[in-house]
Amino acid sequence: MKKITILGSTGSIGVNSLAVVKEHSSKLKVSGLSARSNLKVFQKQLDEFKPAHASLSNESDWTKLKYSPKMVRMSGEEGLTALASGRYDIIINAIVGAAGIIPTVKASETGKRIALANKESLVAAGELINRNLKKHGGEIIPVDSEHSAIFQCLRGSKPEEIEKIIITASGGPFRGTPASLLKKVSVKEALRHPTWSMGSKITIDSATLMNKGLEVIEAHFLFNIPFEKIDVVVHPQSIIHSMVQFVDGSVIAHLGHPDMKVPIQYALTHPAKWPLPGRRINFAELGRLDFEKPDTGRFPSLALAYAAGKTGGTMPAVMNAANEIAVEAFLHGKIGFMEIPKLIEKAMKRHAICKTYTLETLIATDKETRRAVSEWVS
Ligand code: NAD
Ligand code: MG
Repeated sequence: MKKITILGSTGSIGVNSLAVVKEHSSKLKVSGLSARSNLKVFQKQLDEFKPAHASLSNESDWTKLKYSPKMVRMSGEEGLTALASGRYDIIINAIVGAAGIIPTVKASETGKRIALANKESLVAAGELINRNLKKHGGEIIPVDSEHSAIFQCLRGSKPEEIEKIIITASGGPFRGTPASLLKKVSVKEALRHPTWSMGSKITIDSATLMNKGLEVIEAHFLFNIPFEKIDVVVHPQSIIHSMVQFVDGSVIAHLGHPDMKVPIQYALTHPAKWPLPGRRINFAELGRLDFEKPDTGRFPSLALAYAAGKTGGTMPAVMNAANEIAVEAFLHGKIGFMEIPKLIEKAMKRHAICKTYTLETLIATDKETRRAVSEWVS
């Protein structure tokens, strides 16, 4: 029986993760859960999965819930750190945003497996996390569908055999929208993702292509591949999840209907594959797959992410923090869609980068960027 702890269990990835655990309840058991919101969903999860440990962002929310007296209750950042520090075989980090950084860093000190959905932690603190994994013998298996695809395409190959990796992007809801109209798009339109159903932050990131930018940096740290060897191609059907091109010119791709349960399960079972019911591809019905070049003129966030990644040090953390505040401001109707990349660029321009950083300096950089960008949008 493998013990699974899920941080952010009430979100889109969290709920799908519990569906995978339920599908394999004879082999997987929930050891810990955490959430910030959706208390009704959290209550149902506590009743059904009976974790030994659970944590809420706000201590006072515990008064609204019923739980077994045997369950260890925790709260706040301390609760997340305690959950991330042990008592599991695999931890799934499904928190959204920079709040996932400290838990991933703490989990990377345990020597255990991290099934990572929270890409922001690897973007902001990739160097530090990789150092910890090496020192403590842990591993990250990606949950992000593109990275799960690349991870599987790379199985058994040597670094010198890889020419480049090709990350696919759906292109988001505004793939065909002219630049002149992008300034005026509404929150509702931006939240209408064509192929995936996800939390609101990543859905806006998909609309600006920042999600792809974050994924380029995520891929760099996961696979130790230089940015020059990471390409992005728009593929509106989201059937090919990503590809690897080898030095002999051949390409291996990973295909499937969009369903996050597939990469979540693989992150738990690797190197094995377990059965999973779900939709199968019928190639004759599929007919065609389309591809196009991403337009960084209309979607500057992708270019900003390549620039931040190549600069390195604390720059990706600044880009990530600025993006989070800008996306929140857009979701609250405070700024227009095209102001998101402008704010990120402004934050990156004023930042004096630190090439080497500790967790403390990184968190300070994240906080300072949030403060500045919050001021700009208020
Ligand atoms: P979501 O908003 O649906 O869920 C986020 C979860 O984290 C919730 O349980 C929420 O209560 C908790 N949470 C939010 N803010 C928190 C905070 N400050 N402290 C502690 N907990 C907090 O998000 P999601 O769509 O499930 O995405 C989660 C992560 O997975 C993101 O990093 C996202 O980029 C990544 N991801 C998601 C998908 C997807 O299909 N949803 C795909 C690939 C990667
Ligand atoms: Mg993805």
